[in-house]
Amino acid sequence: MQIWKTMKNKLIILPFFLVFLLTGLSAQTFRAGAAKRVITPEKLIPISGGMGEPVMPDGKVGDLCVRAIVLEKNNTRVAIVSVDNLGWPAYLGDMSRKLVKGIPPENILIGATHTHSAPDAYGFPDEKGNTGADLQYLDWCIRRVAEAINEAVDNLQPVSLKTAVEQAKGKIAYNYYAEHLYDPRCGVIQAVATSGINAGKPVFTLVNYAIHPEVMGTGGKKLGPDLCGPLYDRIESKTGGMAIFMNSAQGGMVTADTRLENGKEANDWNECIRIGNLLAEEALRIIAPAPVTENPDLYCASKTIRFPVDSEAMRYVFQYSPVAIKYRSGSSDYSFVTTHLNLLNIGKVQVLTIPGEALPNIGFYVKRKMKTEQPFLFGLTNDAFGYMLTKEDFGGFERYNYISRTSLGEMTGNIYEEEAIKMISECPSPSK
Ligand SMILES: [Zn+2]
Repeated sequence: MQIWKTMKNKLIILPFFLVFLLTGLSAQTFRAGAAKRVITPEKLIPISGGMGEPVMPDGKVGDLCVRAIVLEKNNTRVAIVSVDNLGWPAYLGDMSRKLVKGIPPENILIGATHTHSAPDAYGFPDEKGNTGADLQYLDWCIRRVAEAINEAVDNLQPVSLKTAVEQAKGKIAYNYYAEHLYDPRCGVIQAVATSGINAGKPVFTLVNYAIHPEVMGTGGKKLGPDLCGPLYDRIESKTGGMAIFMNSAQGGMVTADTRLENGKEANDWNECIRIGNLLAEEALRIIAPAPVTENPDLYCASKTIRFPVDSEAMRYVFQYSPVAIKYRSGSSDYSFVTTHLNLLNIGKVQVLTIPGEALPNIGFYVKRKMKTEQPFLFGLTNDAFGYMLTKEDFGGFERYNYISRTSLGEMTGNIYEEEAIKMISECPSPSK
């Protein structure tokens, strides 16, 4: 009797142990998923390239998209999302975060590609408080962003990782204010399926590079993703996996190199194709020889930071934008803003987010302080508060008048640097 009871207990315990072992193993395996949604509006609505009145387009070229990847290891799950738009304020991102299950809101990084040919997501108000923003369109986008993230979760599968950072060569970007003052490094992350029918095939390819996708701009009067469209198309046709672009420190004024010999510029869709395809080819060249990391580590931290708003124009936007009024909750004190920074370790890669358009010198400085040979900066992510200059640059050269005016204030860049470096020192280093 005693022997039988022991045997029976063992027989019951064994299946539980097996289930525990198997779920334990799958949670320890690095997994990734990707998904996208088109967010091209059905009817034409005004496009925005910055503060000021949006422009009514006369057509569209390419599709606007939201692209999401989800990464998972052990108990950590992270979403990286890219929206084809000039900037995606946190109050829109937070609405989507509420619709996502299974990922903590602070682990959802939402960045904008900064295309200058997409509908206004800020609701820049004119003197009368009127705006070109379409609230119905933005409501739809909020749902599409959440749908893409949720589908990426459903698509989670075991992957290995290739990562690399190297100079992208060729006529892609330059600094419009001072030709050579830009960061030519391109960061690439590629996840490759390790099992199932797609084993050996890329699930996604992420490209991190600093550039203004304003080849066509609002002047082109076309709704579209600008050079990001052809960038995605080329990578997806060559790899079969989804492409996602995260911008970097492209402020003041790292832009697409559309210069022609006669002092003119190429500002058409063909130039978007040339630059987008070239950046895609460079990203694929950079990632091709990278060693494969099996089961890489994943770490995600987030913290809230605060910036004073010295700029009258920026306060006016926060206070009177119908988009902000509809979606923003919390403080009605417009003398400061809060936002959150993320730091990720993905295998050998370290990622730090920037809630705006940091100038390239800030980008270089923060990358130098990161504890990795593969530093990534996700610009215009979690918020896009305009240009971020150091106090020395603010209101300095006449060239900087525009970017100083469209900045929160004199200390924005320095506060960001301080908070970023503190975060780097408080977090673990990525693997070597
Ligand atoms: Zn810009």
